Amino acid sequence: MESNHHETIRRKDLRTLSQRDLEKLLVDMGQPRFRAKQVMEWALGRHVTSFDEMTNIPQGLRESLAQSFSLGGVSEVARQESRDGSRKYVVSFDDGVSVECVGMPSRGKLSVCISTQAGCGMACAFCATGAHGLRRSLTSSEMVDQVTHVSDDFNTRATSVVFMGQGEPFANYDATLGALRMLNSPTGLGIGARHLTVSTCGIIPGIRKFSKEPEQFTLAISLHSAVQSTRNLLMPGVKRYSLLHLHETMADYVAATGRRPSYEYALISGFNDTDNELSALVDFTAGTLAHVNIIRLNDVEGSKFRPSSQARAEEFVRRLERAGVETTIRNSRGTDIDAACGQLHQRVSS
Ligand code: SAH
Repeated sequence: MESNHHETIRRKDLRTLSQRDLEKLLVDMGQPRFRAKQVMEWALGRHVTSFDEMTNIPQGLRESLAQSFSLGGVSEVARQESRDGSRKYVVSFDDGVSVECVGMPSRGKLSVCISTQAGCGMACAFCATGAHGLRRSLTSSEMVDQVTHVSDDFNTRATSVVFMGQGEPFANYDATLGALRMLNSPTGLGIGARHLTVSTCGIIPGIRKFSKEPEQFTLAISLHSAVQSTRNLLMPGVKRYSLLHLHETMADYVAATGRRPSYEYALISGFNDTDNELSALVDFTAGTLAHVNIIRLNDVEGSKFRPSSQARAEEFVRRLERAGVETTIRNSRGTDIDAACGQLHQRVSS
């Protein structure tokens, strides 16, 4: 795969073509229409990285396609396995830029967490990725490659994908949507839209656009505080999108889609876990379709922030549920290998 990979650097990734464009291309090459489906099944469905592996495709056609197109693929730079069975990978792309992704198996299912950017420009105060700045945005293919890499390594298909690794998906909207569609496509990976979750720190124009997409993708919002001054401090990158505006936008999102958004809330001792913060969170979410995900803050090297106690987390859950807000405490996976939320950064490559 390696040598092949380098020769094909500047070729367009065939997997990014829509089914219709691929059909048109193949028909123009004198092929029957059904070839498009066959080719895409190999490329996306079976993750082959060379056209030669497409055994039911005529040899001549395989060669012509290989001249114009690539099939993606990443190189693994490093990996770690957690006691809980999840695996974190550092994978690199053609230009040497690398990102992290995580595979989390449970009861015959495989959930994959992928990055949408190398680094992140949002600078959230409690997040390891934010501390290192943005390197570059990823392409759709580079996002899908993370999924196929992890899935191949576990030797099972990915049943859900969360766009919760490094980067801000809505700062890279088009590529993110492209990746969602490749993952969702029935001739591709065939992962149901509801099992594809995008998490945003709250970029309002992105949320508005996302509400209008026809697919039933799942949306998560990183909230972390419903008090404006606290949120500004914790999440300076989204200061210009006020909580009031976010609240309105999410009401419109629910009205337009009928889907339940989730809100991530990492409890930080003394910052966003006070009674005042809890009341603000209840006000923000009560009477909406919200699902609140309470996360106990994961340790980030050199950070002044400390997680709240389990008892405090449980108090949050009780108060929210009493107000009719569906709430869960998310058990972080992969904390022993720094693979949990907010712990991803390019330790190896930088
Ligand atoms: N940029 C997007 C996608 C990243 S998702 C977003 O902000 O939603 C990663 C999730 O982990 C986000 O909810 C993020 O706020 C959260 N997170 C970051 N640092 C964390 C930490 N130290 N402990 C727990 N969660 C953290």
